[in-house]
Amino acid sequence: MINVTKPNLPNIDEYIDILKGIWERNWLTNNGPLVNELEMNLKGYLNLDHLLYLNNGTIAIQIALKALELNVGSEIITTPFSYVATTSSIVWEGYKPVFVDVDASTFNINPKIIEEAITDKTTAILATHVFGNPCDIEAIAKIAEKYNLKVIYDAAHCFGTKYDGKSVFSYGDVSTTSFHATKLFHTIEGGAVFTTNPALLKKMAHMRNFGHDGPEDFECIGINGKNSEFHAAMGICNLRMVTEILASRKELTSFYNNYLKNRLQTVCITTGADFNYAYYPVVFESEEVLLKCVSALNKNYIYPRRYFYPSLNTLKYIDYQVCSNSEAIAKKVLCLPLFYGLRKEDVDFICRILLRSLNY
Ligand SMILES: *Cc1c(COP(=O)(O)O)cnc(C)c1O
Repeated sequence: MINVTKPNLPNIDEYIDILKGIWERNWLTNNGPLVNELEMNLKGYLNLDHLLYLNNGTIAIQIALKALELNVGSEIITTPFSYVATTSSIVWEGYKPVFVDVDASTFNINPKIIEEAITDKTTAILATHVFGNPCDIEAIAKIAEKYNLKVIYDAAHCFGTKYDGKSVFSYGDVSTTSFHATKLFHTIEGGAVFTTNPALLKKMAHMRNFGHDGPEDFECIGINGKNSEFHAAMGICNLRMVTEILASRKELTSFYNNYLKNRLQTVCITTGADFNYAYYPVVFESEEVLLKCVSALNKNYIYPRRYFYPSLNTLKYIDYQVCSNSEAIAKKVLCLPLFYGLRKEDVDFICRILLRSLNY
């Protein structure tokens, strides 16, 4: 069986070695030494001064939204083509998502039509660098400056992606990411927020820990956004492998490209990006063809995923707003298996089945 992804597991003895320290210290969670070590290692690897390690990527978005103290009743401009957590976090925090359609080649929010969607209630833009491919960061920054909007990037797919030579996590007022088991770099469950604004960082650090400022003082409203020593230990082990993981995904992507590049639409990587090869999405000519290919793959115990379907502007709890590119792409896009440990023979096999279904 081949799934769309396979969580990386480090050498078990290496993991256990780190766990032994937990038994010695009897310190399991609450900003322990392994959490600190992971944060330090991540800052080193990503070349960033600040980040906060959290328990998942959804809490990361919610903490970012909360910390920016947007007006009650705010409208937040967002992308319809992302994982559901991008939209649900906005609604969960009591704000109104306003969808702006995506660019048909990068699958990211189209900055050329953001201005049309701005009203006097708009206070922020929450955009996803979908599949690890950076948004048009400069165009979005210009709009944000002109209309005095905050920018949050959901960078859940972006571990290892750089833009203009810097980690893509360094852009926006706040960037968030996920270290969930399905992501390129993971800590089983986990996530992080990134900002270069020291006051915002401090506020989010309080928010991660119930608002505590010392044992008996509460600085602000908070939530439990902390992560444990066990999760941090997994992150420490996986981070040692990340260079190798990135290189193997790049190679596997080139194997896929050899077969599929001129036959199926793939994602167009943004200029200036150093891409992390987080996913291998392909777009079919119709949903019917996609379903036919999925069924042929499933018969061979290969399970790709329809990332991202449905388009988020069509969710039941959303007032529908038309986004024709996103709706069309969502119906026709499929992410093929891509993970560390997938073999060239597997890619050959998957592509042969696809090409046969497509009558090539
Ligand atoms: C995975 C993901 C999230 C949620 O992260 P969790 O760690 O699973 O909570 C949010 N946004 C996007 C785009 C994702 O892919």
